Amino acid sequence: MEYDYKISDIITKIDELDAKNIMLQFPEGLKMDAVEIAQQIEENTPDDVNVLIDADACFGACDLADLKVNGHIDLVIHFAHTSLGLKTECPIMFIEASSNAEVKPPILDALEKINPEDNIKTIGVITTTQHIHKLDEMIKLIEDEGYTVKTTPGITTKPGQVLGCNFTSIKNLDVDMIIYVGSGDFHALGVKLFTKKPVLLADPFKGTARDIEEFYDKILRIRFARIIKAENAKTFGIIISSKKGQLRYNLALNLKKLIEEHGFKAQILNMDYISPDRLLPFDLDAYVMTACPRIAIDDSAMYKKPVITPQELEIVLGIRNWDDYMMDEIIIHDGQ
Ligand code: SF4
Repeated sequence: MEYDYKISDIITKIDELDAKNIMLQFPEGLKMDAVEIAQQIEENTPDDVNVLIDADACFGACDLADLKVNGHIDLVIHFAHTSLGLKTECPIMFIEASSNAEVKPPILDALEKINPEDNIKTIGVITTTQHIHKLDEMIKLIEDEGYTVKTTPGITTKPGQVLGCNFTSIKNLDVDMIIYVGSGDFHALGVKLFTKKPVLLADPFKGTARDIEEFYDKILRIRFARIIKAENAKTFGIIISSKKGQLRYNLALNLKKLIEEHGFKAQILNMDYISPDRLLPFDLDAYVMTACPRIAIDDSAMYKKPVITPQELEIVLGIRNWDDYMMDEIIIHDGQ
């Protein structure tokens, strides 16, 4: 298996808690290892321990399975994400599922791409949960080339850690440029938007690095097109998710009020798993996404009607300038 699933730590935890019914929760990319892990745990725990796999989609620590199976679960093992500090009905053990992918080749490639004429002296390094265990190695590689490296912790995130909905660890970094170590463009885009600094994406799975400027321009053009389309809307659906780490009910109420104050109609729609086909029955002109901020950006092309973020709604309503374009974040959860 490509990841270290820390099976012996899980077995120790089950023993400590005398837990009998265990739910394993994996993101899509790790589900192929789920059966093998479940069987390893069952083989190494008493006969009365039952290990279940949650086969539903899981995209982050915002989505915890503590309430599933009608309260029968004693312990959830949640892989590949770190705690957001949400209140839960049973203990949750977070296993980071650290990637073994090498960070040296993409970081050295990134450093080679720095133009000496840009006079870069300080670099911020930022990464996702699956590579955060290699942060010290990343810092040393960059320092060895003569740069000063800075990281800061964020709200509920570790120093150097970024989530798709939480960029607080980079907002106050006083650096000349950022190296983002990870594979997804989305996080690099957020880092760019929140810092306005040059960002290089160092991909440990490809072993190479690239400038994200072209992708950044492309996404901004797409967002601009969605905003223009939403400006013709007379009726808005405000989407909330019942996943506890994505629920922002008060934000949804405030947005409804705001839309109505501007003379338009608004309806709040609740979903658990959000997908384009669930919106088909509704005769609404545009949607505002208060659930996972990635949905409006990553899945944009899948929706027939414009799906915009709360900050984009402010641009549509004329209360935010396009120059102040910002990505959405979920820092305060209703479930905390
Ligand atoms: S809200 Fe979205 S970006 Fe944030 S943890 Fe959940 S899935 Fe990830």
